[in-house]
Amino acid sequence: MTIRERLNRNKRRQICYYAAAILVLFAGLFLGPLLGAFGPFAPLAGLALAFVGLVYVDMSSAFRCSRCGKSLGRLVMQKNTNLFVINEQMRYCPFCGVDFDSEETLKRTAKEDDPLD
Ligand SMILES: [Zn+2]
Repeated sequence: MTIRERLNRNKRRQICYYAAAILVLFAGLFLGPLLGAFGPFAPLAGLALAFVGLVYVDMSSAFRCSRCGKSLGRLVMQKNTNLFVINEQMRYCPFCGVDFDSEETLKRTAKEDDPLD
């Protein structure tokens, strides 16, 4: 598996989490009031928050460069014509220069050095 394939796979997963959070949130917002504050859909807002938390926690590990270990989250999640893949023009890690189309054979080495962790 190439680095790009892993990033694309993780991006699809993240978008599914976002979609689930939005669906659950809207279900809670629109169905909750119809059924009263203590209706079965009112707790869905909490579930939506849980999905958002899952996205946040997952993003910290899902979008790391496999060579340098730096976070690529914002780059990977930026707007693209195809929502489910990373921008095709992104070819190299901006931190270490590894080619995203190379196979993932290298280990992360600088995770401990990342001050943003
Ligand atoms: Zn890198």
